[in-house]
Amino acid sequence: MKTAIYPGTFDPITNGHLDIIKRAASLFDKVIVGVTTNPSKSTLFTIEQRVKMIQDVVEGLKQVEVESFDDLLVNYALQRNASAIIRGLRAISDFEFEFQMALFNRKLSNKLVTVFLMPHEKYTYLNSKIVKEVASFQGDVSCFVPPNVDQRLKEKFKK
Ligand code: ADP
Repeated sequence: MKTAIYPGTFDPITNGHLDIIKRAASLFDKVIVGVTTNPSKSTLFTIEQRVKMIQDVVEGLKQVEVESFDDLLVNYALQRNASAIIRGLRAISDFEFEFQMALFNRKLSNKLVTVFLMPHEKYTYLNSKIVKEVASFQGDVSCFVPPNVDQRLKEKFKK
């Protein structure tokens, strides 16, 4: 059984993340979405809220699991018997950081392969940060996030 970990902050999950999850699920028997607790990064949503929002979104995808983790990614992936780490690549600007991370992780463990997946072109300019910024000014982000996330953002930024 081939398992992959898709790690990230997911603050909150967007349709771009979901696109990557679906692509990964078509390649692996099990995809674990690993939500980082990372206390050094201040987030809009708590770890529990971020996990719950993703769980609601992936409800129909039977080989996808969602959980939080606070370990070193490589250790967490090995402990979950994963053979791959999934990352999304949107543009060249993602490349440098992702390249460094992938090589570093490979140095830490050569049992893990980093797999880069590209989302649909319509999500290449999308990230959680811009979604939060637009939503904070009551802008419409409904075409960028799943409906439950849109609802949570509206509640968060209600005037
Ligand atoms: P991190 O803090 O690890 O970058 P993110 O939640 O921002 O956490 O991103 C997690 C992963 O999802 C990263 O690999 C990122 O490149 C990818 N990703 C984020 N937004 C998109 C998108 N719109 N399309 C495809 N991949 C994306």
